Amino acid sequence: MSFASLGLIDPLLRNVQDLNYQTPTPVQAKAIPAVLSGKDVMAAAQTGTGKTAGFALPLLQRLVQHGPAVSSNRARVLVLVPTRELAEQVLQSFIEYGKGLDLRFLAAYGGVSINPQMMKLRKGVDVLVATPGRLLDLHRQNAVQFDQVQTLVLDEADRMLDLGFARELNAVFAALPAERQTLLFSATFTDDIRAMAAGILRGPVNISVSPPNVTASRIKQWVVPVDKKNKPDLFMHLVAENKWQHALVFVKTRNGVEYLAAMLDEAGYAVDTIHGDKPQPARLRALERFKTREVDMLVATDVAARGLDIDDLPLVINVDLPIVAQDYVHRIGRTGRAGASGVAVSLVCADEAPQLAAIEALIRQTLRREEEPGFEAEHRVPQTSATGEIIKKPKKPKKPKVPQAAPGAGQVLSKKSRPQSGENKRKPAAQGAVAAGKGTSSSRGHSFGVPKPRGESASKPVAGSRKPAARSAGGRGKR
Ligand code: AMP
Repeated sequence: MSFASLGLIDPLLRNVQDLNYQTPTPVQAKAIPAVLSGKDVMAAAQTGTGKTAGFALPLLQRLVQHGPAVSSNRARVLVLVPTRELAEQVLQSFIEYGKGLDLRFLAAYGGVSINPQMMKLRKGVDVLVATPGRLLDLHRQNAVQFDQVQTLVLDEADRMLDLGFARELNAVFAALPAERQTLLFSATFTDDIRAMAAGILRGPVNISVSPPNVTASRIKQWVVPVDKKNKPDLFMHLVAENKWQHALVFVKTRNGVEYLAAMLDEAGYAVDTIHGDKPQPARLRALERFKTREVDMLVATDVAARGLDIDDLPLVINVDLPIVAQDYVHRIGRTGRAGASGVAVSLVCADEAPQLAAIEALIRQTLRREEEPGFEAEHRVPQTSATGEIIKKPKKPKKPKVPQAAPGAGQVLSKKSRPQSGENKRKPAAQGAVAAGKGTSSSRGHSFGVPKPRGESASKPVAGSRKPAARSAGGRGKR
């Protein structure tokens, strides 16, 4: 099976070749001919399956081959996505796949000024990728009219419903021309999604591809049972102990994200964060810096979990399990892409036993439990099956603890050595960084007892030696 055999035109084939895509993925092999033929599609496929090219390539071709040129304040293809990050990512895919074609693309989402989006819409765009709320805003202000829309794509439809966009979606459906092609992509097919699909799809081609990665043996997944209060220290310990260099770290709350990021920063990692409190440009910048490896660690809430395409990410660390089991799949779907091997580690406390059970039921496997010596959980995480026994690692000789300062005494830890001596890439924490933006780190004025790398002695805190690197809204480490 080749892309050429699917009926794609030369410019698209060249772009695919430039991206070094050798063969279509299963979802592409099924979706491309269906979309080219103008049919509706209902696809059970999640991120990592190549679904974006599955709809973008044939839609680009249809834009070139069918329909009149776009008029001002119009769009011909409308792609609805749940998050701003995904909007940017899908836009980038259209730009890459559509290189050399005379087409205009735009991503429109909230959290940034609407004016530049309105300006760009004046000329009309062939593809508008948008979050539902901002799309409706633009529509109500007459910045975009829908009479030229030939195709509607719902990307990650389940996520859009999870995020409460049902009303906005219905308003968009009602405003679109009845004569159109509709493509619906969703990782899961709940009753709500089926009901929505029944209302908007006509005789769809049904496509289902197995979730990528989750069951693939190339992702090494395990669980470390731990008491909730010890999670931050265990996290830092694991990072240092395993010499982890580049990881996407998930934490439940925004405060938790900032707390952990401050610890990593203090330990000398270049770190940035993504969560809902951050303005959109800062979130996109954080993602970009992580992708280009300007930062080592990206700490995020679930906002970042879905749809993000990060090449060659070796490691995902779940400091907290997601509430919704499906999000575990999305999280670890960031690793093990395109045949690469990956690691997904989850720190699980007793409170999270129900979430863990739901995840294991969803992925149909019991994750290996591996206790970390020195961090054994007092409150056991219940087992779900015989294969989930706890593996006890042999105890290592105790290392001296980093002494703690009296809280509030203004004392700070001396700078932590990097976890990997001589190995390059650690960036020093920003010296003398000034706190910017809102809030102060919950870690300030505290020492965290971050274990030193093996073979190094713990440095004693020196009063007044250095303030912990301050948090800044724009991220830490290298700037
Ligand atoms: P998606 O599921 O659309 O987010 O795509 C996941 C990743 O797979 C992206 O990094 C794509 O660039 C990549 N990809 C998509 N199609 C192919 C293909 N046919 N061969 C290799 N990589 C691909």
